[in-house]
Amino acid sequence: MLFDTHCHLNFKTFDNQHEDVVKRACEAGVNYIVVPGTSYESSKKAIDIARGFERVYAAVAIHPHHIFEIVENRNDPDGIKANLEKIESLLDDPKVVAVGEAGIDRHMYRKTKYRDYKVEEEFISLQKTFLQEQVKLAVKYGKSLILHNREAKKEFIELISEHWDSKLEYRTVFHCCEPEPELLEFARAHKLFIGVDGDVAYTPEKQEFIRKVPLDILVLETDSPFLSPDRKFPNEPKNIAIIARHVADIKGLTVNEVSKKTTENAKKLFSL
Ligand SMILES: [Zn+2]
Ligand SMILES: [Zn+2]
Repeated sequence: MLFDTHCHLNFKTFDNQHEDVVKRACEAGVNYIVVPGTSYESSKKAIDIARGFERVYAAVAIHPHHIFEIVENRNDPDGIKANLEKIESLLDDPKVVAVGEAGIDRHMYRKTKYRDYKVEEEFISLQKTFLQEQVKLAVKYGKSLILHNREAKKEFIELISEHWDSKLEYRTVFHCCEPEPELLEFARAHKLFIGVDGDVAYTPEKQEFIRKVPLDILVLETDSPFLSPDRKFPNEPKNIAIIARHVADIKGLTVNEVSKKTTENAKKLFSL
């Protein structure tokens, strides 16, 4: 039995295909899927999709990239509060297992729906406000936490340290974790999980990093529709089986050992 801890079934690529994709996942032994939100709308959609399947669950949050929408509407002073309240309103749903994905992202996306996308300090500062408030929501509602960091490890670690709560131990994941020793060190010290994706198939730095991550804190994720192990688009949750095989090779373990332990870890992460 395998667990895809991060799969965007709520993205347009998968519209009208949820039944087929989940069926193919089950046939490959991937029985559990968590669908993270990236905006209020995609969070609501994640919940709707999760309701259709017994072992599909949702996470809700505004992704740092999409905080740009709020930067664009900077004339609206209530924007921050209103957006956080909208996310909070979803947290009582029994299908919602986590707040996520929330974080800091300094990557300069070339392909984005935002016309004047720029990574400026005002934008980063707003990302930090949202991250901090969304961490608090996870603690307040007893939910797990899916964290996204891209090219911002120092300030990301600082902010998470500052707002850390022991209730988040073994309930938090550094999803698609960058191969940085500081992130691993923080995860070990504070009892967080590390998410590994399909790019482990072809990225030597990730392979070296995953060799060092103890199996006790490792969870598998596809980040579908992105990051296919064969670099094709779209990725699918069934490919968790391929990631498990790569992790087993890297760590000198059997696929069965990796499957069993990472599924156990993921269930612990999401309290399932
Ligand atoms: Zn992410
Ligand atoms: Zn994601």
